[in-house]
Amino acid sequence: MKSIEIFTKSDTETKKLGGILAREIMKSSYAKASEDKIATILSLEGDLGAGKTTFTQGFGKVLGIKERIQSPTFVILKIYPITTQGRYSNLIHVDAYRLKSKDFKVFGWGNFIKNKNNIILVEWGNKIKNILPKNSIRVIFKHGKNFSERKIIFENSKRGC
Ligand code: ADP
Ligand code: MG
Repeated sequence: MKSIEIFTKSDTETKKLGGILAREIMKSSYAKASEDKIATILSLEGDLGAGKTTFTQGFGKVLGIKERIQSPTFVILKIYPITTQGRYSNLIHVDAYRLKSKDFKVFGWGNFIKNKNNIILVEWGNKIKNILPKNSIRVIFKHGKNFSERKIIFENSKRGC
């Protein structure tokens, strides 16, 4: 499995990295838009405070989301409309920390995945990996040696359904 490791030294750098990935995904999705039949899914994994929400903020900014993206811990799921040109019309930010895969069925998870105009970022995606599509992108966040250092690993998921 191909993976990429990147170290960041501040929350600003992690936001930038989120923005870089968003830009790359936008570029590739323009080309493949007609081939992709389902949503684009990112599984954000790692401990509390590791940077999952921070990364999502930088990611959303590049997609033109003006509203401040906050931790979805208390709302479970939040939908941000995307108005910039391109394939995606919604960024869906999910927190799976307190949930189990079966809980996702009640709010129509299947329909969110089926819509290829959705880009879905799932914090704690590892907790519901059996209901994430096989080609989801894993982004794994690890605390570094220093307070503001993080190791961020990108992997193409081969697991899921
Ligand atoms: P999570 O969503 O994984 O629980 P958050 O993104 O909410 O984590 O919180 C990360 C916290 O760590 C923030 O307070 C942020 O300012 C701080 N931080 C310090 N250094 C970094 C870094 N390199 N990358 C991301 N966040 C960092
Ligand atoms: Mg968070």
